[in-house]
Amino acid sequence: MTLLTQHLTSPNPELDRLAEQTPPGMAHWSGTGPNGATCGSCRHYGFERTIQGENRDEVFVRKHRTSCAIFWRLMGRVGPGLPHDQPACRYWGSLSGSEPLQSTTTETT
Ligand code: SF4
Repeated sequence: MTLLTQHLTSPNPELDRLAEQTPPGMAHWSGTGPNGATCGSCRHYGFERTIQGENRDEVFVRKHRTSCAIFWRLMGRVGPGLPHDQPACRYWGSLSGSEPLQSTTTETT
């Protein structure tokens, strides 16, 4: 997405480049993670939420297989799905890290 017209120059071309390569739903700029790392190899890629229904006995599990858990924590909403091969951001975490692969919380409807 080009933000400037041909009559304006960008004050920060590097920021423009990062914005252009980062799809909505990423926790930070794409390509700022480890060399060769992708969202698909990140432990924050995909998560599930436990949602309590109006009736206390009702519990739903909603899976977001391709959305970023860090984006969700930071923004308070689930972001759009990300391509598996999207270059990683600086929040990338290895699958063998100490945090669980799936983030689980309880929400009420
Ligand atoms: S935290 Fe992981 S899944 Fe989320 S945008 Fe960054 S690299 Fe992608």
